[in-house]
Amino acid sequence: SGERPKNFLEEIIEADIKAGKHGGKVLTRFPPEPNGYLHIGHAKSICLNFGLAQKYGGKTNLRFDDTNPVKEDVEYVNSIKEDIRWLGFEWANEFYASDYFEQLYEWAEELIKKGLAYVDDQTQEEIRKNRGTVTQPGKESPWRNRSVEENLDLFRRMRAGEFNDGEKVLRAKIDMAHPNMLMRDPIMYRIIHAEHHRTGNKWCIYPMYDYAHGQSDSIEKITHSICTLEFDVHRPLYDWFIEKLGIFPSKQYEFARLNLSYTVMSKRKLLELVQQKIVMGWDDPRMPTISGLRRRGYTPESIRYFADKVGVAKRDNVIDLSLLEFCVREDLNKRAERRMAVLNPLKVVITNYPEGQVEELEAVNNPEDESAGKRKVPFSREIYIERDDFMENPPKKFFRLAPGKEVRLRYAYFIKCDEVIKDENGEIVELRCSYDPASRGGQSPDGRKVKGTLHWVSATHAVKAEIRLFDRLFSSPDPNNVPEGQDWKVNINPDSLKVIEGYVEPALKDVKHLDKFQFERLGYFCVDYDSTPDHLVFNRTVTLKDTWAK
Ligand code: ATP
Ligand code: MG
Ligand code: MG
Repeated sequence: SGERPKNFLEEIIEADIKAGKHGGKVLTRFPPEPNGYLHIGHAKSICLNFGLAQKYGGKTNLRFDDTNPVKEDVEYVNSIKEDIRWLGFEWANEFYASDYFEQLYEWAEELIKKGLAYVDDQTQEEIRKNRGTVTQPGKESPWRNRSVEENLDLFRRMRAGEFNDGEKVLRAKIDMAHPNMLMRDPIMYRIIHAEHHRTGNKWCIYPMYDYAHGQSDSIEKITHSICTLEFDVHRPLYDWFIEKLGIFPSKQYEFARLNLSYTVMSKRKLLELVQQKIVMGWDDPRMPTISGLRRRGYTPESIRYFADKVGVAKRDNVIDLSLLEFCVREDLNKRAERRMAVLNPLKVVITNYPEGQVEELEAVNNPEDESAGKRKVPFSREIYIERDDFMENPPKKFFRLAPGKEVRLRYAYFIKCDEVIKDENGEIVELRCSYDPASRGGQSPDGRKVKGTLHWVSATHAVKAEIRLFDRLFSSPDPNNVPEGQDWKVNINPDSLKVIEGYVEPALKDVKHLDKFQFERLGYFCVDYDSTPDHLVFNRTVTLKDTWAK
């Protein structure tokens, strides 16, 4: 990553440092609203905010943007902290926008006193209607020219709880004909009689995002406030409040949000999947949440690698989900130990192998990492191979097992198929094979070539395991694109989870939750939270793109 060209945010920060702005200091923030679990889009933002600060010797604050009491909860606060730490980042300070409610309130009074804010009695509906359109100026509120004294009195009474929800709002007095609709007297405060997860019932007026965010940045002396592109139209308002209050001049910069094919990232939609039990929870391995990816078997490194590869764009785009899968594959290839597992077993009896004999064969744990060492794999007269690795009437280029054909068993011997046993329905139930004792370890002394190498487990030693095979949660690459009048969930893939029973080698008996392995020739698998020593459960993280010679 040191090689790639600088992105536009790095250019801006370097220019600011060079110009000695803010004494060369860099302070960023990550500002989640605690109304859901973090997802891969947030991970992009976390990597960017923390990454930029790290790169330029700065710091990053974690600020909970908790200005909406209705949808927020401490469960989310805790999960957000856990996920950021798991990704490998540590914040300089943990702040809450709600900690600034008193300061924000004082500043609102200050704006009223300067004649820059007023209490409006119009209904929400009237306010919306009178805002005008892009081509038509808005209409001024009949309450727009209240005196400072009246505004102060009403605003204080709003705070004191004298009015019902929606009865009054506080608005900035800017320009009802402004070409930017957001500048047409935006709402600063609304009345919500609801308990807040931190401030309890202390407040019944709550600041709007636009009134809270920039000032919160300013209070913390954030130098570079990075947000997604759709906020660019909010920037003039961000600057307006800071300028009128004469406070620390934080600056907002926008980058393109991360969009992923086959993925929805709206927290509202993710919450719906959880509430309607379409998934097992926020951390379902099919969810794009950080906790879901973790349970699926993603590593923090793979997600950071992905965030870096995606880069920083100034225009919206959609990243292919396969890039995320590529990143986890790359990372797990380096760190995951290899094991053998058979997901769709077919029994093989090696007729010339002595009955009752067991051998411990040596297997390399990770060819990419010598320090991972070796392990012993038991071999015996009866083994399981993958049903797909045998064909009774194979096509020409089938290099796996077939009648009369010879293959190599990984770490073990060459075997040749002598006989196919079927049940009364003609279903293949067993193969009878013979092995070449001289081919131990997978080479034969006469140098004869065997193209196919199969994975296997010893039938007498293998351990049963539940294997969860995941597919994409949505069958459409653009799941947010739903035909008029249809539920957004029409694009859900009904077959996104397939549970099977397989056999794994006995070395997997003592695994811990979230341990990660490559099951040779099958993919990467991770131990699920539901796994116990008596009932192993593995999640398939991702299949292998490249398998060794079939
Ligand atoms: P939603 O609208 O679904 O609730 P949000 O963007 O409001 O999501 P926040 O908790 O406010 O969620 O987001 C915290 C930070 O993460 C914000 O700075 C936001 O810009 C950033 N972020 C959210 N989604 C993405 C995304 N898809 N790509 C990049 N950054 C994102
Ligand atoms: Mg939101
Ligand atoms: Mg937000």
